[in-house]
Amino acid sequence: MAHRVTFIPGDGSGPELTEATRRVLEATGVAFDWDVHEAGLDEYERSGSPFPEATLNSLKENGVGIKGPTTTPVGSGFRSINVLLRKELDLYACVRPCKSYEGVRTRFPETDLVIFRENTEDVYAGIEFEKDSEGAGELIDLIERTQGARIRDHSGISIKPISVFCSERIVRAAFEYAREHGRRKVHACHKANIMKFSDGVFLEVARQVAAEYPDIEFADIIVDNLCNQLVSWPGEYDVLVLPNLYGDLISDLGAGLIGGLGVAPGANIGTHAAVFEATHGSAPGLAGLNKLNPTAVMLSGVLMLRHLGEAAAADRMEGAIASVIAEGERVTYDLKPTKDDPTAVGTSEFADAVIEVLGTA
Ligand code: NAD
Repeated sequence: MAHRVTFIPGDGSGPELTEATRRVLEATGVAFDWDVHEAGLDEYERSGSPFPEATLNSLKENGVGIKGPTTTPVGSGFRSINVLLRKELDLYACVRPCKSYEGVRTRFPETDLVIFRENTEDVYAGIEFEKDSEGAGELIDLIERTQGARIRDHSGISIKPISVFCSERIVRAAFEYAREHGRRKVHACHKANIMKFSDGVFLEVARQVAAEYPDIEFADIIVDNLCNQLVSWPGEYDVLVLPNLYGDLISDLGAGLIGGLGVAPGANIGTHAAVFEATHGSAPGLAGLNKLNPTAVMLSGVLMLRHLGEAAAADRMEGAIASVIAEGERVTYDLKPTKDDPTAVGTSEFADAVIEVLGTA
């Protein structure tokens, strides 16, 4: 039976990248029943809503979606669709595999990491007190009364909640993934030496959960040291699990290790749904030119195939993408030795090349 999947083209570069990916996904032979819905800046300009109710309902109903990037204009009236999605669907795990493929220019060819970033709390919980507001004043007084320390006047304050519940489910997701995918080691990354009562909870819970998975190695690492270690010995790291803020930063570091945003896929996985999308944004300056690299969206499609239980098709699709990149001929500008290499192909020609390999596999 065909997999019913919500398909969100997005805006900017989204439509061309998701179209290239749709064609490759279909070329694997897996049957899809695409439920196409809009989100993003174009939809906002058309209907006044960047994220229509129908799109959200489709994701809730189908439980699986693939999404192109969407623009969040700076200083405009609408909030990031991705933040909204995470909240509405409780997409608590942001999963970012960072694997170096042969043929991609990188100084770190041994990198093969999977990052599990907690997606719902930490300083990104959105609990903030504006400087000079009544709430900020009350909080400063409360802290002085209970902690004996006075925060300077005219301070803005962001709250960092880390709960047992959210720490447990993200750490468990990382261990379950490690077990399912034959990974050897999970590192919990934190700064519990300084933030004893927030990162301390994360670390304590990570240790408890790790004890339930004796078949997987476990270690913890302080996040600043992790940054140093990753650019020195990336091959030593396997699955990383992190609270929200560190996860955000280390995900971009991971994308850098493997050759850039054009090849960095992602998934947001939650209780009610899973949404697959690249790490990169809508690249508005380069959108509509049939120029950008669809690999990141395609590899997000590979993750979706695995999520749907189509492991064989996922392996074939990943293999076909990897072989086009390794060959280095029919690849986009970012995978060529120089940005203006005249032999670079467009987004849709890259997809054609992958489809050709799939046809001969
Ligand atoms: P971006 O990721 O869109 O682009 C930054 C640069 O990365 C581009 O100029 C380009 O050089 C390179 N790049 C990005 N995608 C590429 C690809 N597929 N192939 C080759 N090179 C690629 O980041 P930005 O310019 O900071 O953000 C643009 C918009 O996207 C913003 O509105 C931002 O809020 C939004 N955004 C959306 C998402 C999402 O929808 N998941 C994620 C990040 C940013």
